[in-house]
Amino acid sequence: MTQPSKEALAKLAPVLTKRWLSPDAWKLDVYERLDGYSALRKAFKVHPDDLIQLIKDSGLRGRGGAGFPTGMKWGFIPQNDGKPHYLVVNADEGEPGTCQDLPLMMSDPHSLIEGVIIASYAIRANFAAIYIRGEAIHAARRLKQAVNDAYRKGYLGQNILRSGFDLDVVVHSGAGAYICGEETALLDSLEGYRGQPRLRPPFPATHGLYASPTVVNNVETIATVPYIVLGGAQWFRTMGTEKSPGTKIFSVSGRVKQPGQYECALGITLRQLIELCGGMLDGHSLRFWTPGGSSTPLLTDEHLDAPLDFEGMMGVGTMLGTAAVQIFSDQDCPVYATYRWIEFYHHESCGKCTPCREGNYWMKGILARILSGEGKKEDLETLLDACDNLLGRSFCALGDGATSPVTSSIKFFEQDYLDYIEGRKEPMFAKGELAGA
Ligand code: NAD
Ligand code: SF4
Repeated sequence: MTQPSKEALAKLAPVLTKRWLSPDAWKLDVYERLDGYSALRKAFKVHPDDLIQLIKDSGLRGRGGAGFPTGMKWGFIPQNDGKPHYLVVNADEGEPGTCQDLPLMMSDPHSLIEGVIIASYAIRANFAAIYIRGEAIHAARRLKQAVNDAYRKGYLGQNILRSGFDLDVVVHSGAGAYICGEETALLDSLEGYRGQPRLRPPFPATHGLYASPTVVNNVETIATVPYIVLGGAQWFRTMGTEKSPGTKIFSVSGRVKQPGQYECALGITLRQLIELCGGMLDGHSLRFWTPGGSSTPLLTDEHLDAPLDFEGMMGVGTMLGTAAVQIFSDQDCPVYATYRWIEFYHHESCGKCTPCREGNYWMKGILARILSGEGKKEDLETLLDACDNLLGRSFCALGDGATSPVTSSIKFFEQDYLDYIEGRKEPMFAKGELAGA
């Protein structure tokens, strides 16, 4: 296996992942021995407003995909409004290729719970919910056990650590719908309704759970909070870049020797990340990749040195998204990959708005036709036209995201589409195999 360069190794920064390899770190007594809940004790000595300021100063940005400044989001919660406030943790990780939150909740659930308590204290919430993906039964069990242990030890419930602060936490399992990762659909689902997005604005910060001020943050974001409380904003800013400080857990999958979760300073490049993964698989060379799941436009081997941070990815026409880096080689077909992604969006579209419900149905059918060797040259224009009618015209980000693989694969790999259409490439499906797909 190729040894990573010094530059690549210097980007490895295990902060959130530092306990993952410690045996039984998910157990409360082990977590406590490894410095656990010391940030909470420190936080209770600080005024809630100062905690919000600390998170603002750290520059922490939401790790769920959008990169919205966390401290600013917390600061939106109106104070002295007489309404209850809520913290909701989005653990409905569902973006293709994304796998940071599940291992975090399995290996180190108390770091999330500690972050939940600190964040709730800062925004003056006495109730928090962790909404976890329905399929993740193992992680939900582990989290529920950790919450029960935290109650038993006095970290949750009434008058936590004699601070005068009360907090109840529930772990709520969804039913496995991708759309419930969209924050307002998640809130509807949590309230017991069918999970479909709400119109924004108003944002959850003012009209969230039960129409009350609510912070919705991703697991990794909240789990970062205790480290910032312990290390300080300046320490956090020593990692990453000026506008994207800190570390990020990158989920690397696909054609590399050692796929997995790599926690690195933001701003690492794909070249360095692949080095950390031991290089490409033997006999494979990089052809295309996603920086943050399928909802972010594809990149190619031209972009090996673009910094993987929020600005760096925008600079090359894509987004960091969830930092789910899926690596495809010269042995993978970008048209087929796009078909599979659109199959996913079609399946997961909640059906509320026409552009996404119909657009994904038609895009899937056209892609199937192309892959069956029955495509027409005009199909590419139709696909781009469909994307034009989805992007910015769909009710929520799912519709926008579905356009990313289509537009970017046509931009970089039009020839592959034409090879199917003009008969130079063996069809992927038999004629009629996907009729009505
Ligand atoms: P967004 O940019 O619309 O909002 C980000 C956050 O900021 C939200 O919490 C929103 O309420 C808040 N916000 C934005 N403007 C605000 C304002 N003016 N006032 C108050 N709050 C405000 O992004 P989004 O639609 O929430 O999320 C899209 C992202 O989700 C995509 O980038 C995608 O990468 C990611 N995603 C992640 C997963 C996953 O599995 N983690 C799945 C699907 C999509
Ligand atoms: Fe539902 Fe898709 Fe419309 Fe979002 S864009 S509301 S997922 S139909």
